[in-house]
Amino acid sequence: MINLYDILEASNGQLFGEPSAHIFTEFCFDSRRAAESQLYVALKTERGDTHQYMREAVERGVSGILCTHPPDFDTQKLSVVLVRDTEAALMNWTRYVLQRQGTQVICVSGTAGKSMTLEAITRILASQYRVHSSTGEMAGRLALPTTLSNLQPDHQFVVLELDITRPGEMADIAQTVQPDVVAIPALGQTYMDTFTSLDEIVAENRLLLDRLAPTSLAVVNYDEETLRDLTAITRAQTLSIGIESFGADLIAYNVLNSVDKTGFDLRFRGERYVGRWIPWLGKHQLYSALIGLAVGLHYDIELDDALRVLSDITYMAGRMNPLLGIQNTLVIDDTYSANLQSMLAALDWLKAVKRQAATENRRLIFVMGDLDRLGDHSPAAHRAVGQRAAQVVDLLVTQGVEASLAGRSALDQGLNPRNLYTTYSTQDTIGALKERIKLQEHDLILVAGGPSARAELVVSALLQDEKDRIQTQHRQEFVDVSVLAQNSRLNWVEIDLNGLAYNARAMKERIGEQVTMMAVVKADAYGHGAVAVARTALLNGAEWLGVSSINEGLELRENGVDAPILLLNYVPVSAIQQALRHRLTVTLYDLDMARQYDRAAREVGLKLDAHVKVDTGMGRLGAMPKDAMTLFRHMMTLRYVNVEGIYTHFAAADEDAEFTAAQAKTFRDMIVKPLRASGFNFRYIHAANSAATLSGKEYHFNMVRVGLAMYGLSPSQTVPVPAEFRPVMTWKTLVAQVKTLPKGHSVGYGRTYMTEKDERIAIIPVGYADGFRRGPNNWGEVLVHGQRAPLVGRVSMEKAAIRVTDIPGVSVGDEVVLLGRQGDQVITAEEVAARVGTINYEIVTGILPRVSRR
Ligand SMILES: *Cc1c(COP(=O)(O)O)cnc(C)c1O
Repeated sequence: MINLYDILEASNGQLFGEPSAHIFTEFCFDSRRAAESQLYVALKTERGDTHQYMREAVERGVSGILCTHPPDFDTQKLSVVLVRDTEAALMNWTRYVLQRQGTQVICVSGTAGKSMTLEAITRILASQYRVHSSTGEMAGRLALPTTLSNLQPDHQFVVLELDITRPGEMADIAQTVQPDVVAIPALGQTYMDTFTSLDEIVAENRLLLDRLAPTSLAVVNYDEETLRDLTAITRAQTLSIGIESFGADLIAYNVLNSVDKTGFDLRFRGERYVGRWIPWLGKHQLYSALIGLAVGLHYDIELDDALRVLSDITYMAGRMNPLLGIQNTLVIDDTYSANLQSMLAALDWLKAVKRQAATENRRLIFVMGDLDRLGDHSPAAHRAVGQRAAQVVDLLVTQGVEASLAGRSALDQGLNPRNLYTTYSTQDTIGALKERIKLQEHDLILVAGGPSARAELVVSALLQDEKDRIQTQHRQEFVDVSVLAQNSRLNWVEIDLNGLAYNARAMKERIGEQVTMMAVVKADAYGHGAVAVARTALLNGAEWLGVSSINEGLELRENGVDAPILLLNYVPVSAIQQALRHRLTVTLYDLDMARQYDRAAREVGLKLDAHVKVDTGMGRLGAMPKDAMTLFRHMMTLRYVNVEGIYTHFAAADEDAEFTAAQAKTFRDMIVKPLRASGFNFRYIHAANSAATLSGKEYHFNMVRVGLAMYGLSPSQTVPVPAEFRPVMTWKTLVAQVKTLPKGHSVGYGRTYMTEKDERIAIIPVGYADGFRRGPNNWGEVLVHGQRAPLVGRVSMEKAAIRVTDIPGVSVGDEVVLLGRQGDQVITAEEVAARVGTINYEIVTGILPRVSRR
């Protein structure tokens, strides 16, 4: 409960107009989730301002607003409090509430194991006291007021998880809550995008310990050197915990890891407690339990009593939670909010139970999703996990672009390539486990990943009993993207690989089992990212890949893609040996060249696979039909060239059905049939691109080459992709500045645009150096707040201007969509292409490589 007058008093606030409600149930920071009886808090940070959403919050029923400037709408039925700084007001209110009630404050900090530690402390204290604890749904200091809004007058303790999001935050927190106990289970091996180094995170925790009063208590993990050192600086009392380390105050030893619980003996100041256990799994969770015991001791809870609480404790959803899987497998769900440290700890546990697992015939399978928010540290962190995994697991499944790096480093560490499965979506992970790995009884599957990997969906799909689904949980940490998220990129492309997987499967279904699907991933998969697209396509019906150059083929091979790859473009003879070594299939259309290839192949003693291309009307690469027969006669005598396919390419499958039919007829009647009659047989015969594939079976032969449609794009208006296909690419940027220009003011180079009246202009940090076209025609419109905003003036190299006069509340940091959907509006590649005078292909491939893909 939040009392209006407490807020006023604590924050020195002013009422705006007559108050209405006096009591609020909760604070609301996200207008999209606003509900009745809440107090909406408008925030203004360096990244943005949520005052613009006050109206939306009111429409959804909030009964009060805390803000720095009053709303410009009717506030009759509202209580509106004005303060100078809303965040500071919340901190003041937090301190006010805690002091008034005299609640003991216990803070859990550090880099991993916080929520388990919070749970252990809460359970143990709750055996004798009234305890309130935070839920972990909020990060940063806003978690404090959120938790305290549910504090009851009889609560004696409040246990808070301190999840700092940026440097300097801890000082505010320490100042606000003045903790009686600080517990730190772990401090190391973690990175965060908002901190440049671990040192910065350590410094934040140092500050917390440094600010502790002499009457307070610090409980730290003695096994971590950093923490051991930090205890030297605090004036508070300390209690240290450790495992097998005989300098700590409270020590667990003889630890026994098993697949459903952890056993240990305990020693505290000469007293021994033998043969105890908790259901929680792994050394890292045992640390959390020990901290719970230590805090209990501080508040006079006997170890025996506390140990009993621990042995009855339940598993926590998403944190090393063992669940019964299909085929009687054992699924360990560690998907709640895995970070580098917890993932390594989970692998340590796997290692600890490896022997037991072997005697029980369990294969150890590790499913790893991308870890989040690692910033520049991401590649190194993912590789570290891969290295560790290689030493422990039987099978490794990586899901996501970043996680695939873990797979590669696992291979470097000696993991057998046959035991590595690389996917980019939860669906493909589930498919890999069920259909390719074929789970067996007793398999032990550890699933972990950061919140955005949605790895809990994998867990959910593996459960034997649907009812257990309630035990899987997605961490919905509150991060209002437009306001609080830290984003260092100015514009970026988002790729929906689930959408791509869907399109590929839908295409495969249309062409049927008999026809082989080649996924065309040239030009970095039409700007979508070749490796991830190739892998996803291969997991969803494609068997071949088509690229343009040898370099594109090599990129795929270097990333461990081993499916057959056809090079659709010219390959210089000098590159043939590389093609051979990497088993790349070339396109042949000329006898001289074929002879040179043959010679190069003979030198390395390898046979070169080739598909012969015939020009049936495209007027581009390919042998002319009249020359085809002679070409084949000679080519078949080349001992180091193996012709396994023949193909042609349609010139107008997207617009001229008649010409396409004629080309197909030429190909069939003048090439394929006569060659067959002369005894030449080909494993692959192909002609169709996306347009022809969608146009009819008669163009499929026994292989199709699909590009555009797989990316959810339509070949043309006459040949659209089926409505259920999903566009895969979204291009976004943000608002960098908003200002009102007076009537008659020009915008941009060359002063081509003049304001007609007072106009709101927003600047977006994207330009032609990113592939955002300048001329002769530009993009025309973009989306902001789900509405269309016109571009005004010329597009610069890396900036452009849009008019937002008619879109209320646009402010710095708001997301802008250049391509893709926002709310009900969508800007398609087709639409942009029509405007700039080209085709959708050129729009997506025209987004330059310097724009990051994710
Ligand atoms: C690019 C390309 C394709 C794919 O065409 P889409 O229209 O994108 O499906 C097929 N075949 C060849 C030879 C290509 O160069």
